[in-house]
Amino acid sequence: MSRKTIVVALGGNAIIEEGTKGTIEEQFENTRKSLGAIVGMVREGHKVVLTHGNGPQAGVHLIRNEAAAAQVPPSPLGVIVADTQGSMGYMIAQCLTNALIKEGVSKGVVTVVTQVVVDPEDPSMKNPTKYVGPFYRPDDVEGLKARGWIMKEDPGRGWRRVVASPMPLDVVEKQTIKDLIDDGLVVIAVGGGGVPVKRASDGSLSGVDAVIDKDRASALLANLIDADELLILTGVDRVAVNYKKPDEKWFDRMTVAECEKYQAENQFPKGSMGPKIEAACDFIRRGGEKVIITSMENASASVDGKAGTLITA
Ligand code: ADP
Ligand code: MG
Repeated sequence: MSRKTIVVALGGNAIIEEGTKGTIEEQFENTRKSLGAIVGMVREGHKVVLTHGNGPQAGVHLIRNEAAAAQVPPSPLGVIVADTQGSMGYMIAQCLTNALIKEGVSKGVVTVVTQVVVDPEDPSMKNPTKYVGPFYRPDDVEGLKARGWIMKEDPGRGWRRVVASPMPLDVVEKQTIKDLIDDGLVVIAVGGGGVPVKRASDGSLSGVDAVIDKDRASALLANLIDADELLILTGVDRVAVNYKKPDEKWFDRMTVAECEKYQAENQFPKGSMGPKIEAACDFIRRGGEKVIITSMENASASVDGKAGTLITA
């Protein structure tokens, strides 16, 4: 069997489950549950890079910012992303290490705090669409808007703050990540989409107040390290059109052209499925072979072609 390079993107909601408090114990438990498929890939000798969302975890930091505002200065979004890369990287690395030990697989796991280059003039800076932080009741919305926040309804879920989500252009640590997987390590990278930074003409870096979509960042990283596959693990088993409508239709396979057609019909919302489909198509257009979108539970089955939505050229 040929060894592949696989980028696996874990959804933020996979680790703090919707409707739970998100205690550290729950997060460890969910992380453990999420990693079964990854242990299998590592055991088979594939080079694996894990990426992860941080929506709920960054939301916790944003609540802390508000609650502690009188005592400590609030952290900007970039520092919150770096914090969650460290804390979630620690949880994922420890859970994966323990799972590998149990299977008798000796393999190092390392987390890379990752910076991702964006254009500070990206059009999204003026038109924020990325949901961050907790859900609010409709009654709270006017008061939050008065703070200068932009609030939008996440269809079927509730009201949330939205922030800019510029396109990722480069991954600062890409060569390090490639060297680490070539050296036989499992790497956790671009957590939360990476810390957004801009690059000056002399090459120096500085933070940008925004967040980067983790699926887009994962797809870019996958191309930059010449990955064969991108596996996006999220809250649904497959991709649908007419999602949550009576004429809902689920797909086992989709081509890039079909994705584009349904994208043009607004079948995939900007804050959730939209960036996954875009990321999938971008990865394939830039030379990637295949993308699978599925749930944690079906990750192993999807690798064998028995679950999920497979997207190819
Ligand atoms: P993650 O944390 O994994 O990034 P998101 O909530 O951002 O998860 O996006 C995945 C969610 O998008 C799914 O769990 C599902 O509720 C929603 N979704 C929206 N449109 C669709 C669609 N057309 N097909 C499948 N799921 C969809
Ligand atoms: Mg998402």
